[in-house]
Amino acid sequence: MNIHEYQAKAVLAEFGVPVPRGIPAFSVEEAVRAAEQLGGPVWVVKAQIHAGGRGKAGGVKVVKSINDLRKEAERILGATLVTHQTGPRGKVVHRLYVEEGSAIEREFYLSALVDRATSRIAFVVSTEGGMDIEEVAHSHPEKIVTFSIDPATGVMPFHGRRVAKALGLSNDLAKQAESLVAKLYAAFVAKDMSLLEVNPLVVTKSGQLVCLDAKIGFDSNALYRRADIVGLRDLTEEDEKEIEASNHDLNYIALDGTIGCMVNGAGLAMATMDIIKLYGATPANFLDVGGGATKEKVTAAFKIITADPSVKGILVNIFGGIMRCDVIAEGVVAAVKEVGLKVPLIVRLEGTNVELGKKIITDSKLNVIPADDLDDAAQKIVKAVKEAA
Ligand code: GDP
Ligand code: MN
Repeated sequence: MNIHEYQAKAVLAEFGVPVPRGIPAFSVEEAVRAAEQLGGPVWVVKAQIHAGGRGKAGGVKVVKSINDLRKEAERILGATLVTHQTGPRGKVVHRLYVEEGSAIEREFYLSALVDRATSRIAFVVSTEGGMDIEEVAHSHPEKIVTFSIDPATGVMPFHGRRVAKALGLSNDLAKQAESLVAKLYAAFVAKDMSLLEVNPLVVTKSGQLVCLDAKIGFDSNALYRRADIVGLRDLTEEDEKEIEASNHDLNYIALDGTIGCMVNGAGLAMATMDIIKLYGATPANFLDVGGGATKEKVTAAFKIITADPSVKGILVNIFGGIMRCDVIAEGVVAAVKEVGLKVPLIVRLEGTNVELGKKIITDSKLNVIPADDLDDAAQKIVKAVKEAA
């Protein structure tokens, strides 16, 4: 789960992390009042969307008068921002963040994430902040310093020194860097984060290390114990299909292809997506209905897939172990009866109660293309979609 920049900064501030003073605003008038309250003489108006790259897209503006602030707030609020992270459709700005302006001396990059290779929280720092870190990683990998923290010891002074050295900081700024790393690590662990990115982390002209931007992603599996974080969720930022899926406890991720997939088991779902690609098409989603899915859950899953206008064909691939093929078949039939079927549907069933499952599909007289195995199923659905196009 992701949150907005202003919320991320508030979370970090709880741990004593230095962030600029700022006030969120939901209207132009609120933005003006926020600016008056902050006092100026320089403010930054920032679009709040769950995507980076706002600066380059005109979503971050430094202003020096209330008049200009009003103009920028009017321009940004309600506008659709297209950044390199939003996709071509962009995101509508519903919230602004008004901050006191910072006089920037240098911009760095800093992030923390769960590193699966070491099973530890890792820090990534670079002197090349502000700009696209992906580009830096590609053309100047030597400018990126990475290290992980042993959970048994937590952050040690040498970790802080490592960051200070990587960023070329000495004396008081090095001390600030040490303290910052310790605070960010504490926040990361305490709030079950999966990703924390500060880009840029800046040194101000008055010699302060400040987090000028903040993005946080939380581990969804820990949200049951993070009511405070769940309260920060902004549903307008999330994919409607993914919200619906989470209401039914389905593991669903929307993708931009044309073939809807309903599979049981994450590994099989990945394999299904791979084989669709192998035969020349792209999956419209990842969907793992899980082991103990009910007919209702399967029906809900099928409805989510068919409601997606970019889905031009559906591949149901079930290997019934704990999951029974007849339950899947009943769910598919019920969903099709309710919402209809406008695209080709291939069902590949194998495993527990497979004969019963196939019989339910056949008896339903639905226009389902049967398949013998996964290879056959993938080729057939790709062919059917290509022929229909
Ligand atoms: P992003 O483009 O979505 O990552 O948004 P950021 O919050 O990182 O802002 C983009 C850029 O705006 C930063 O890299 C800074 O260069 C600039 N910026 C943000 N806040 C300030 C500020 O207070 N003063 C100045 N001078 N520049 C700022
Ligand atoms: Mn940024």
